[in-house]
Amino acid sequence: MTLAGKTALVTGASRGIGKEIALELARNGANIVVNYAGNKQLAEQVADEIRSIGRESAAIQADVANSEAVEQMVKETVNMFGSLDILVNNAGITRDQLLMRMKESDWDDVLNTNLKSVFLTTKAVSRQMMKQRKGRIINISSIVGVSGNAGQANYVAAKAGIIGLTKTAAKELAPRNITVNAVAPGFITTDMTDKLPEDVKQELYKQIPLARLGEPKDIAYVVAFLASEKSSYITGQTIHVNGGMYM
Ligand code: NAD
Repeated sequence: MTLAGKTALVTGASRGIGKEIALELARNGANIVVNYAGNKQLAEQVADEIRSIGRESAAIQADVANSEAVEQMVKETVNMFGSLDILVNNAGITRDQLLMRMKESDWDDVLNTNLKSVFLTTKAVSRQMMKQRKGRIINISSIVGVSGNAGQANYVAAKAGIIGLTKTAAKELAPRNITVNAVAPGFITTDMTDKLPEDVKQELYKQIPLARLGEPKDIAYVVAFLASEKSSYITGQTIHVNGGMYM
């Protein structure tokens, strides 16, 4: 129980990778705030599952791209749980299109939800963590943030931006004993990748030395390590979890 008594806020935690991260942090002892954008029922189900393994949990609605909503969520978290020790920036969307056809609104939506959100939550949460003189921030980037990907200029720019923001926040927050790291998943089986046609998946397997897509738990285990005391000398890093697809 490396996280006993800690409070973790996981954004976009009602399904996919975020849900598995929330459950894994809870299995390691943390109490969890399950942030969600719209589907209250799914988020409440995750909170119930966390309570059933003996931890405290609350589902809080907030659009992570909205500064007021983020501030309010952090305030509610601290009021409810008394501290905020771990932030996992997981929420994300895609609006794929070739660069020449990409609408400005698709660029803005993806940058706001995937990157501006990390700035907003980090700012709001760091204030509390600075008071506690301790904290862990873990940002979910992507393999494409380092490799690039045709048809995903907005998403790639956001995920590359997360890596830069992680390094800067790590330098600024290190004197307050707050570590900031990123995890860059490869292709993981979730709603985001379920849409891929079978022939595209078969092509992917050939490019992945471990010859399978990753599972949400592959990401959750690494996040749980980065959230724990065992990672106290790691900051500003991006850990790649991709079956060897990109080295
Ligand atoms: P998903 O679509 O299943 O989950 C994304 C979650 O973010 C959803 O719960 C969604 O409701 C939430 N969300 C979206 N907009 C939000 C907003 N404005 N405010 C709050 N929550 C919001 O996708 P996933 O595959 O579980 O992805 C989780 C993270 O992992 C994302 O950041 C994604 O970019 C990243 N990622 C996924 C893969 C993959 O292969 N699945 C690969 C690399 C990176």
